Amino acid sequence: MHAMDLDGRVALVTGGGSGIGRATATRLASEGMRVCVVDLDGDAARAVAEPIGAEALTADVARSGEVDAAFAECAARLGSVDLAFLNAGISVGISDLAELTDDEYRRIMGPNVDGVVFGARAAIRRMRAQGTGGVIVATASLAGLIAFAPDPIYTLTKHAVVGLMRSIAPTVAADGITAHAVCPGLTDTNILGAETKAALRDAGFPLMGPEQIAEAVVTAARAPAEQSGTCWVCQPGREPTPYGFRDVPGPRSEGAEGKVPPGLRDDGPGIFRR
Ligand code: NAD
Repeated sequence: MHAMDLDGRVALVTGGGSGIGRATATRLASEGMRVCVVDLDGDAARAVAEPIGAEALTADVARSGEVDAAFAECAARLGSVDLAFLNAGISVGISDLAELTDDEYRRIMGPNVDGVVFGARAAIRRMRAQGTGGVIVATASLAGLIAFAPDPIYTLTKHAVVGLMRSIAPTVAADGITAHAVCPGLTDTNILGAETKAALRDAGFPLMGPEQIAEAVVTAARAPAEQSGTCWVCQPGREPTPYGFRDVPGPRSEGAEGKVPPGLRDDGPGIFRR
């Protein structure tokens, strides 16, 4: 389903009760999709779902059982899951690693890493069983592409999301499934908190509306299959932009050039071939 026809298909959106998830659920509904809004905060999910004629589910994406149940319930109510937007996430805002407690560390790994792994796994299983392909989009961040000193653990989790989406893309291609990450810069949602927003405003730094990230999700969903594995950078005033990763140097030893290790795909120029 590439250059995906969104109309009439089914989307499941995690973290759909607020911010980027809310804007994306609303946008996907306006594209004719039937939407299932999933959030830890069930009231927020229902408040988003009701006006757009969507379904609402309460689930903690950090718990694999709840993620699997949400995918099953979405498919039971709406017939399938064709687009999974794995977006729920939090930040911890601790810049000095020495101050990080075990509890804070575990608290963020749950939604930001476990949640995306469990969501992607549930999506692949379901889409493979449906046999009609699908799209998986996860919300990473610019902090998935750059070093972000104010929150190194958040940065760790978003690099994980980028690596996961890029690395599953080749394997799920055979099932007609594409995998993408969206990488927003600073976006006007609750995750930033009033103090940060005020400081950014005072510094004259532009914030994006969450609708701009929804646009990137739609762009990813409609991208041709060859673009699977793309990280879409979202910055104020710019169209969603595919991030260009640089190749790393290949082996230099005599005779290694052009060789691809057994079990890896020969994807053309990359780590193993220049
Ligand atoms: P937000 O706080 O407005 O929304 C996050 C939503 O996720 C909330 O509704 C919350 O209840 C839900 N959620 C949190 N933990 C959950 C869990 N365990 N299970 C299910 N739902 C859970 O913030 P947002 O900015 O819309 O965040 C969405 C995503 O965007 C996050 O992954 C965030 O890291 C990412 N992001 C945000 C920005 C930004 O500047 N706002 C920039 C880059 C990336």
